[in-house]
Amino acid sequence: MRRPLVAGNWKLNGSRAANGALLRALVSGCRDDAGREIVVCPPFVYLPDAAALLGGSTIGLGAQDAAAESAGAFTGEISAAMLADVGCRYVIVGHSERRALYGECDDMVARKFAAVLAAGLVPILCVGETLEERERDQTEAVVERQLRAVLGRVAASAWQGAVVAYEPVWAIGTGRTATPQQAQAVHAFIRGQFATLDARMAGQLRILYGGSVKGANAAALFGMPDIDGGLVGGASLDAQDFILICDAASGSAT
Ligand code: PEP
Repeated sequence: MRRPLVAGNWKLNGSRAANGALLRALVSGCRDDAGREIVVCPPFVYLPDAAALLGGSTIGLGAQDAAAESAGAFTGEISAAMLADVGCRYVIVGHSERRALYGECDDMVARKFAAVLAAGLVPILCVGETLEERERDQTEAVVERQLRAVLGRVAASAWQGAVVAYEPVWAIGTGRTATPQQAQAVHAFIRGQFATLDARMAGQLRILYGGSVKGANAAALFGMPDIDGGLVGGASLDAQDFILICDAASGSAT
């Protein structure tokens, strides 16, 4: 039985005032439901404030990235241990925006994934193809390459509750969502990749879908057998819509 997870990626958005209003609305509006998990990932500087505002609630805290290194002369970087220190439990790793805009290669993503696990945190590893790659029928090859890069550094048996997010790049922030069938096909492929390495782990691995998830389409996506919740960008900034998405994850456990 996999517990569905909905994680909100706030990206480069927010302010103390806006975050306070959003988090208060989520804390009061999200039904207590042990059957699914909710996480928010604000920008780094707001993490301590968010931890305080979420204190006592069941909503967890995550970060949007972490350094591959643990300490030292790496100006501007933030380590996974620092994120743990301010109350984070989850860290998004390898988001397509970091890969495309900040040049994060598969190996860098793998190093970050390992660093997050080493700090005792849960990585949410993003994988997914561009539109061009999909149109060339390369979706599985791209996803497999991205997964293998991480598996080359951290064996499947050591993934300890890690999460994978399938995020087709062409669906992120575009309003264009993969159909539940398109998403399910890739989720099943991802689970199958793990099944060849460690069947038990594959059965327990949570695989989230990300790409223009909204209250209106979440239930259909989360109803698919290998979709265990969502990584949500734009809609996670709207309390009402995010609550609808979280409600859709309730009861979709498989
Ligand atoms: C994301 O940034 O991970 C994402 C899925 O964004 P959006 O929901 O806005 O497409």
